Amino acid sequence: MRFGDDILAQADALAAFTEAPPGITRAYLTPQHRRAGDLLLALMREAGMRADYDALGNVVGRYDAARAGAPVLMSGSHMDSVRNAGRYDGLFGILTAIACVRDLHGRGVRLPYALEVVAFGDEEGVRFGVTLIGSKAMAGSFDPAWLDTKDADGISLRQALVAFGADPDGWRALDRRGKDVVAYVESHIEQGPVLLNEGLPVGVVTAIAGVSRMRVAVTGLAGHAGTVPMGSRRDALAAAAEMTLAVERVAVDAPAGEAVVATVGTMDVEPGAINVIAQDVVFSVDVRSATDAARRRAVEAIRARCAAIAARRRVGVAADVYYELAAAACDAALQDALAASVARRGVPVRRLPSGAGHDAMVFPPVCPIAMLFVRCGAGGISHHPDETMTAADAEIATEVLLDFLQTWTPR
Ligand SMILES: [Zn+2]
Repeated sequence: MRFGDDILAQADALAAFTEAPPGITRAYLTPQHRRAGDLLLALMREAGMRADYDALGNVVGRYDAARAGAPVLMSGSHMDSVRNAGRYDGLFGILTAIACVRDLHGRGVRLPYALEVVAFGDEEGVRFGVTLIGSKAMAGSFDPAWLDTKDADGISLRQALVAFGADPDGWRALDRRGKDVVAYVESHIEQGPVLLNEGLPVGVVTAIAGVSRMRVAVTGLAGHAGTVPMGSRRDALAAAAEMTLAVERVAVDAPAGEAVVATVGTMDVEPGAINVIAQDVVFSVDVRSATDAARRRAVEAIRARCAAIAARRRVGVAADVYYELAAAACDAALQDALAASVARRGVPVRRLPSGAGHDAMVFPPVCPIAMLFVRCGAGGISHHPDETMTAADAEIATEVLLDFLQTWTPR
């Protein structure tokens, strides 16, 4: 095997850099970030790249083009993790790109563009509650107000950057909009079961789903669980339960071609006693779709259904959307080029949307984007220690990426 075994061994080595063994937890600007970054830096240099940390602690490697002044294709993913994560989310996309450079360099092949491999320091947002810090800086959407956000120990992002040896004021210079980058291509584990269920090792991503997050507050009236007759109750929890089923129904009933997923993931109940009718319930709703219009329609349908349920049950309801991120379409030409590489590898071409967010989704202001998904094992589980992939799939995905890199030419 040319690539797969090495990539899985490298992912195993990186899994040791964790705050809480045996699980993997690697947050931004921590000693674990430093150790993972140093190992990736060494792998990049050994593969034939010039590589270093940038001002925000991202690791950036560059494999120069055949000629000076050529444009740049960027590939990579994130090196941070969620709490108690798996070992391939993010890292696979970095390691597969490094493996391609090592192969090209070993054969003395230079491309008509410079290849930059990036290991983003923060995508998951575990430490500061802000996601995609590294890639947003490169895409020109870094918000300097983030420098004052604090982690759970009261350390600000600015202080953490200084302690890491990075430069809190260096984010401006990282903006790549309107410069030399002409494509961003990210490989990533699917983090779902679609490819697994269809027996396919890789797939071409069509779009990265947008997301709306809602906070729904239901106000009823507390009362004694033994004395208030059923007909006179204004039970906030029974109403919230009905609303939860309505949220699910809205997503299930979305028309074909406008798929939506919707999830109630948290619910707080007050006063929260076994013998008291619930007075106040607050629950979360996460709505995602590859189509922004479908997502907005689902949000409006959820609002309308919750209002109707509240009116019938004589409770109050307030549904606020507090976070929105637009869907990011993958570039048609880049998708076709990746699909051609998949087909040349003898694998049926499966195109699928990404329900999860990725670094790629912030890059459209810089350049066209594309993503290659790789099959997850264990039922498609991710963000969990059971996340898995095979060396054989890592091999195929790397061969596909390498074929793409050697056949794609900048316009
Ligand atoms: Zn990821």
